[in-house]
Amino acid sequence: MAVFKVVEIGDPVLREKAKKITKITDALQQLLDDMAETMYAANGVGLAAPQVGLSKRVIVVDAGEGLYQLINPEIIEARGNQMDREGCLSIPGIWGEVIRAAEIKVRAQNRDGKTIVIEAAELFARVLQHEIDHLDGILFVDKALKIARIEG
Ligand code: ZN
Repeated sequence: MAVFKVVEIGDPVLREKAKKITKITDALQQLLDDMAETMYAANGVGLAAPQVGLSKRVIVVDAGEGLYQLINPEIIEARGNQMDREGCLSIPGIWGEVIRAAEIKVRAQNRDGKTIVIEAAELFARVLQHEIDHLDGILFVDKALKIARIEG
């Protein structure tokens, strides 16, 4: 296990459309574990592979529902909307108010390559949408209605 250095806004990898995963390998499973370790070490609730400098469609999320390690995640249904504060490990010291869907369904492969469908609401849905945006080169500051610096 290893903790990655998280890349920050300005790094071009954060703006790329990440590449689809076509094969489950030991190296990919190691990446998922290292990403989880990196997320927990940074007290984050989600992390996308581009944030560790890798243009791959892989995310890890733990918004209180336990750890999800997702490969090629896509939103297949979205309902309603919610607005709340959001931040990002790649944009330290900044938060913004972002409108997201209230409830979503995400289809992905798990770490063994099995296709799964996740239903998510509230914070879990918000984090999934934020991380999936990273795979398309989208950052929360692109969508935020109001942006502010964290005081302190
Ligand atoms: Zn982020």
